[in-house]
Amino acid sequence: MPNNKLVANQELHFFGDVCKNFDYAAQFTQHDSGLLDQIKSCNSVYRFRFPIRKGNHFEVIDAWRVEHSHHQSPTKGGIRYSEMVNEDEVMALAALMTYKCAIVNVPFGGAKGGIKINPQNYTLSELENITRRYTVELIKKNFIGPSIDVPAPDYGSGEREMGWIADTYATMNPGQLDAMGAVTGKPIALHGIAGRREATGRGVALAIRECVTIAEDMQKLGLTAGIAGKKVIVQGMGNVGYHSAKFLSEFGALIVGLCEFEGALYNADGLDVEAVFQHRKATGSILGYAGAKKEYKNPMLGLEQPCDILVPAALENQITINNIKNIQAKIICEGANGPTTPEAEAVFYKNGGIIIPDMYANAGGVTVSYFEWLKNLSHVAFGRMSRRFEENSNLNLVNMVEGITGLSLTSMQRSSIIKGASELELVNSGLEDTMIRSYHEIRETLHHNPKIDTLRTAAFVGAINKIAVSYQNLGVWP
Ligand code: GLU
Repeated sequence: MPNNKLVANQELHFFGDVCKNFDYAAQFTQHDSGLLDQIKSCNSVYRFRFPIRKGNHFEVIDAWRVEHSHHQSPTKGGIRYSEMVNEDEVMALAALMTYKCAIVNVPFGGAKGGIKINPQNYTLSELENITRRYTVELIKKNFIGPSIDVPAPDYGSGEREMGWIADTYATMNPGQLDAMGAVTGKPIALHGIAGRREATGRGVALAIRECVTIAEDMQKLGLTAGIAGKKVIVQGMGNVGYHSAKFLSEFGALIVGLCEFEGALYNADGLDVEAVFQHRKATGSILGYAGAKKEYKNPMLGLEQPCDILVPAALENQITINNIKNIQAKIICEGANGPTTPEAEAVFYKNGGIIIPDMYANAGGVTVSYFEWLKNLSHVAFGRMSRRFEENSNLNLVNMVEGITGLSLTSMQRSSIIKGASELELVNSGLEDTMIRSYHEIRETLHHNPKIDTLRTAAFVGAINKIAVSYQNLGVWP
């Protein structure tokens, strides 16, 4: 396997790594070993194969859906379209979804799907056939439904695929009132929600902003508090990487490095994220962008350049025992799932760094998926019932204050105070609140027990405790 590409390293055991982290954290909880086993195991692993017609021959497609934990219903998680997908990976990602949902208090169990294809090798109509057939296979086995298991986008899939899934599910379930709640990440015109596309990246940026705001923690890293001027390298310019970089620079950070599978760019004075994105769109590569001071054909070298924060937002197993000693960042924020191996993490902490773990850092996507699902079940857009009422109340208040004080606001000031919240504003505020609260929950767990040494372990401990309570409430465990 070429080591200069951003590909998932299949030789490493991803589900085993997740279990290793789980077991380590479990020793800081008081639960029965059987209950811990139940929480850790994948409840249902559905592996299936189906044929599609490609040109004038048939091709058999390998696919999976794993429901890791039914302590909450429905289960939830994206569908990955990638040639690299395998059962171990889907199981690991499904498990991470369980812990992720628990950490951000989203009432779902974890699941994940995989379709083993490189989408670039298929025409639009072939992709549609594959997606619709995949959905039918899930329906046949009761592996999809608004109260059963709700897929979403993941690496290699997006709104278009979720639209096909929604349509197939609704067609096969005529008259089902909540059919649109069977999948999230849909186009807005097909019952999706404003802000879902950028939610994971926005969540990553909010996680970093919250982390670096705490002066006491930054001091230990030899950094000043606050996001302004922090130097960041982002790996991956897909949906998560691009939006993480975009929102981080909006918050005042300096994006000094960007890496994609074809190479990496670096400029200590900062890169214009949008310009790099447009350059890549136009030329097919980030290389050749005029605003970079350095270029690397080997994208992995991009991760090793000077910065305060590194955001791996591509795939798993990117930061390993082989390259961790060259990483100069003090903070790694995992936009991707499983980008750092446990061995690399141990070295990084030993060298005085901290890792904001995937299962918290990239939970913005599923958080907004939860809002979309709620919207689909309630059949009304957020803010629709209250917006005008809020505006009228605010208007009355402003008129009264102006009357009493004699002050007169400019029309800009008036409209910014009066304006009722849009769906996007409500979604973003719910997401911001979730990311901030969850960070402090994890940090408190870390500080509460001096034996807990990393944010990941603290996040796992919190998640395990919450899931254990759910099992106890279900009456499954005495
Ligand atoms: N695939 C995303 C994740 O890994 C989103 C899952 C969802 O929205 O259900 O978190």
